[in-house]
Amino acid sequence: MLNIILFGPPGAGKGTQSQYLKDKYHLAYFSTGDILREEMAAKTEIGLKVKALIDAGNLVSDDIVVEMIRQRVKENIKGNGFLFDGFPRTVRQAEMLDEMFAGFSLKINGVLSLEVPQDMLIERMLERGKTSGRADDNIDTIRHRFEEYDAKTKPVMNYYETFGNLHKINGVGKIEEVFDRLCAEIDKM
Ligand code: AMP
Repeated sequence: MLNIILFGPPGAGKGTQSQYLKDKYHLAYFSTGDILREEMAAKTEIGLKVKALIDAGNLVSDDIVVEMIRQRVKENIKGNGFLFDGFPRTVRQAEMLDEMFAGFSLKINGVLSLEVPQDMLIERMLERGKTSGRADDNIDTIRHRFEEYDAKTKPVMNYYETFGNLHKINGVGKIEEVFDRLCAEIDKM
């Protein structure tokens, strides 16, 4: 089994690269951001609960996202592996994922961190905002998402660095170039 976390700030290209990675390595792919947006679109109980937080660029609670992942891991345990995008986003989520994986006798093979300078990220997200229809792709909310990232998500990198399975990947360049860099790292795992 191959279990990978694609890590990186908002706008780093995690969603785009995941589409190629899940096909190449036949992985069950889960983006907590996508799942939450589906819940909001369907106006489920969770969707209604998280909408104001997401629209304002705040993270939603650890318990909600970990539970969403737990269900999906359970349902796909017999597959080739998992690719997580946008999860874990806090040290607590990383700890809860470790506990969950230990319970299923699974392990994380590697954490790939896409590195892109912040000014480029903001440019990309504003561009995406023209067509994404996302309430959080506007300049004020983007700034707040970076504050959340710096305060709560960046420490997750140190968490995985300590365990030695963090790999930093240059996320600047053509989609195919970045994809090749990611694959080169995965193929060593
Ligand atoms: P994304 O599509 O990954 O940029 O996520 C969009 C929004 O969903 C984030 O700004 C958060 O409000 C929420 N979100 C997505 N994943 C998580 C997570 N793992 N933990 C907490 N909030 C999340």
